[in-house]
Amino acid sequence: MREIDTDLLILGAGGAGLFAALHAHAVDPKLDITIAVKGLLGKCGCTRMVQGGYNVALGAGDSVERHFMDTIEGGAWLPDQELAWQLVTGAIERVRELENEIGCFFDRNADGTLHQKAFAGQSFDRTVHKGDLTGIEIVNRLAEQVWTRGIRRLEEHRALELVRSRDGSRIAAVLLVDMRTGEFVLAQARAVMLATGGGPTMYKYHTPSGDKSCDGLGMALRAGLPLRDMEMVQFHPTGLLAGPHTRMTGTVLEEGLRGAGGELLDGTGARFMQRYDARAERATRDIVSRAMFTEMRNGRTTPHGGLYLSLAHLGPENVRRQFKGMVERCADCGFDLAGGRVEVVPTAHYMMGGVEFDRQCTTAIEGVFAAGEDTGGVHGANRLGGNGVANSTVFGGIAGDAAARWLAGRDERLVPDRAAIERAQAAALAPFGHPPGDLEALREELHATMWNDVGIIRDGAGLRRAQGALASLHRRLHRTGVADRGREFNLTWHDWLNLDSLLTVSRTIAHAAVAREDSRGAHFRADFPRPSELSTSAFTRVRASGEALDLEFVPVRFTRVRPGESLLTGTQTAATAAAA
Ligand SMILES: Cc1cc2nc3c(=O)[nH]c(=O)nc-3n(C[C@H](O)[C@H](O)[C@H](O)COP(=O)(O)OP(=O)(O)OC[C@H]3O[C@@H](n4cnc5c(N)ncnc54)[C@H](O)[C@@H]3O)c2cc1C
Repeated sequence: MREIDTDLLILGAGGAGLFAALHAHAVDPKLDITIAVKGLLGKCGCTRMVQGGYNVALGAGDSVERHFMDTIEGGAWLPDQELAWQLVTGAIERVRELENEIGCFFDRNADGTLHQKAFAGQSFDRTVHKGDLTGIEIVNRLAEQVWTRGIRRLEEHRALELVRSRDGSRIAAVLLVDMRTGEFVLAQARAVMLATGGGPTMYKYHTPSGDKSCDGLGMALRAGLPLRDMEMVQFHPTGLLAGPHTRMTGTVLEEGLRGAGGELLDGTGARFMQRYDARAERATRDIVSRAMFTEMRNGRTTPHGGLYLSLAHLGPENVRRQFKGMVERCADCGFDLAGGRVEVVPTAHYMMGGVEFDRQCTTAIEGVFAAGEDTGGVHGANRLGGNGVANSTVFGGIAGDAAARWLAGRDERLVPDRAAIERAQAAALAPFGHPPGDLEALREELHATMWNDVGIIRDGAGLRRAQGALASLHRRLHRTGVADRGREFNLTWHDWLNLDSLLTVSRTIAHAAVAREDSRGAHFRADFPRPSELSTSAFTRVRASGEALDLEFVPVRFTRVRPGESLLTGTQTAATAAAA
């Protein structure tokens, strides 16, 4: 096993990881910072895939209070209000930093101000963007800045396990595997930042990048960290549906298409969203996805079993100009987005749940920081489109600042728990000890279980059925081996490890979803279709207890505004009025 030593080890190189590295370096340029990433730095993760853009209250007439209220109401009163406040206020600073220090160019109005577009579920057009390929601009510029600072990179290094110190008191190291050689790497670190970005790729249709398999959440759970809001999985309404033979199926067609006036049609060509919500296609993602799923269950579907998205009425030239990337993506799959109809299906997009963390991005293990999609609490029951990349960049920066400051007072290196390292190595190598089996069949079963029974519309019977299926899949995976043809770039081995992480985290989703007997945000129970009393809202907290999972409900602290109130003086949004 190769061993390395570093001050701050950052796991993941999306918006959260890259910002953390830059901020930690700015606080203390002498810090030894290492980024370990499963893919290539700048080329992997979901921040690069951000299409629509970045929410920030900059426009005349908008305010952080308004952005905050949209976030709280969108999150169905489950967000941690202090984290949500930090998001909306921090986004202003971060977007300026992205332009003025990192070098991003976002689209502008004729008067030089930033152009901000409409995104669903928001009371103001506040989404800053670079065409419809915003993430490429952000990640390319961030990566360049990281490269210029000489920050150490371990690319194609997969983190396997957080390793505590021998006395169990703090983090001491992370066990990784160098995917190119298959060699284990022990990265001893004084502080570790978790930024592996969740990613609900356990569903039949999903949007995140292929490198994301909830590894960070699995590691966090095994290390004893509590996860919150795990039942809250967001489905994006418009995943491209181009048939089972292409990986393009499930990839997202951005929210701005509905924001600009795109219409959803059933298989007969009839518009249906007005029957479900007064905002029609501009309702929040949960409402639109549920309406689509209902239409699909009722059988009014397109040839591939989905629905249509149509923008033709907005004028093909206009659509081509505004949504160049989307038009080209659809054309690649044989669809004419500008002038015709595109087949779409709701697709698993984002996990609101994740590691519990606080305003300084610290967690329950001393020395472990977390930010971005690995964390829970900022979005509550639902994330607004545009709040995802704001979340990863705002909290990534905070985590970098906090970790560097925390390290300043501590020089000691702790001895990692060698027995824990050996156990983690043995667990990772376990599939080499079994006869090879059909991982694809297991994956398809996982996808179907999660899509059918832990998906957009849930009920107790289906969730309990899923719990049984997931336990069985876990047992079968652990009897299934991979061909022992060496560990170098053994993608079948990594596929096995991905499935193991996905099954671990799928169990937490089903567990929390069974326990939550109400419907709010992304979580809809057909057997409990109403939200419970908002004023006594509580979030789920799941922890591992040996092989079992413990769950408790924790009351939400309404530190800034209570259900029925608004921070907007003299105005009540529709949802606040309804809650009142
Ligand atoms: C198609 C798509 C479009 C989106 N559009 C928008 C949008 O318009 N607006 C918006 O606000 N949000 C959008 N999002 C959500 C947004 O991308 C995320 O909220 C956010 O960028 C996540 O940032 P992150 O840094 O937490 O994770 P990521 O950017 O996903 O980065 C995770 C990193 O962790 C690495 N990693 C994973 N596992 C391991 C491991 N075991 N070891 C080491 N490294 C590991 C990955 O390789 C990657 O580098 C979109 C997401 C998708 C998928």
